[in-house]
Amino acid sequence: MSSSDQPRPECTLHLKPGKDKSLLRRHPWIYANAIDRISGTPQSGETVRVLSSEGRFLAWAAFSPASSIRARAWSFLDTERVDAALIGARVSAAVQRRRGLEVHTSAIRLVFGEADALPGLVVDRYRDQLVVQFLAAGVELWREVILDALKSATGCTAVYERSDAAAREREGLAVREGTLSGETPGLISIIEHDVHYAVDVINGHKTGFYIDQRDSRRLVSEHAAGRRVLNCFCYTGGFTIAARQGGAIEAVSVDSSAEALEMAAQNERLNGFETSSTWMQANVFDALKSLLAEGRQFDLIVLDPPKFAPSVQHLDRAARAYKEINLKALRLLAPGGLLFTYSCSGAVSVDLFQKIVAGAVFDARTDAQMLHRLAAGIDHPMSMTHPEGEYLKGLMLRRM
Ligand code: SAH
Repeated sequence: MSSSDQPRPECTLHLKPGKDKSLLRRHPWIYANAIDRISGTPQSGETVRVLSSEGRFLAWAAFSPASSIRARAWSFLDTERVDAALIGARVSAAVQRRRGLEVHTSAIRLVFGEADALPGLVVDRYRDQLVVQFLAAGVELWREVILDALKSATGCTAVYERSDAAAREREGLAVREGTLSGETPGLISIIEHDVHYAVDVINGHKTGFYIDQRDSRRLVSEHAAGRRVLNCFCYTGGFTIAARQGGAIEAVSVDSSAEALEMAAQNERLNGFETSSTWMQANVFDALKSLLAEGRQFDLIVLDPPKFAPSVQHLDRAARAYKEINLKALRLLAPGGLLFTYSCSGAVSVDLFQKIVAGAVFDARTDAQMLHRLAAGIDHPMSMTHPEGEYLKGLMLRRM
């Protein structure tokens, strides 16, 4: 399927009346309920023509038979051909766009799905190791073309696959993990803004590390001097070690995962601090309660929880959970203390998150200033036609 002399796509999605609006605005997703009928029997990932109810050309798209996002647009141009040359050029353009970015790191996201016109594809680079996730039927079909293009654009030969995310299941695709080329990676030691972290790309979360929080780790480091720091949902210690590097006088970090905490302590040693900090294996909701009961106070708190709202159906519960941890964190903050608080739920908008945190400030009977709005780093762009790509949002507050 990688040859460029393949025939024009045979199958067509005919949309229901009025369902062409988002495609006309170049939003790339076609939901199953927007489709009136399908001519032909497209296979998973196959390129289909998308027509409005009046028969107007709208897009070429990758068909995804199992997903509620039934197709993802590759192109809105009738004359464009979705072939190996187009896919390969997009991969190398994405890699090219990251060249010259001021990121001070050996861990960078090279391809970020829709934002790089490659829906469902994620590629992270840790030193010379590439880690790939094929999370939609379209990119899965083109995987060999994509892998070849990645290798030639980066010069990297080591590629590991982590197509184990929930998105893959929704696409009706089986989990795929393992070494695709080169040697099976061990722990990879990366340097981000002069901080060393060991990354386990085989067993770690996502592709091994929360690359997206690079700018925030830097900001925490810049504000940590002389402060007592509490890092909730610390994973492998990213924010904690950044804070220690920045001169924190005390650090307490909480996570429920023993493996993550073990890596975190190892990361701390890797940076050569003379004393070790406190790593607590606990549920953050309980830990915040007990820290409050003990009368503890902190001068800088990070709340970077997992996705509380995997979809809009979970919004109410998620909002309550965000509110609770923010309220407790604000109570643990000394006056003048800083709160770095995040949500990585796509379903929680920037506005809603700000409202939830404002509610927590009110209920904590305190006042707070917003110092910064925070987001993923520059290597995680968002397409202006695909706002769903903006998943990570955060606020930096100062308690009055
Ligand atoms: N801040 C981290 C990433 C956080 S990922 C970084 O910058 O690297 C979310 C983490 O929360 C995971 O490590 C997971 O183990 C942990 N976690 C999830 N639910 C939890 C809970 N209720 N209590 C404590 N930790 C939790």
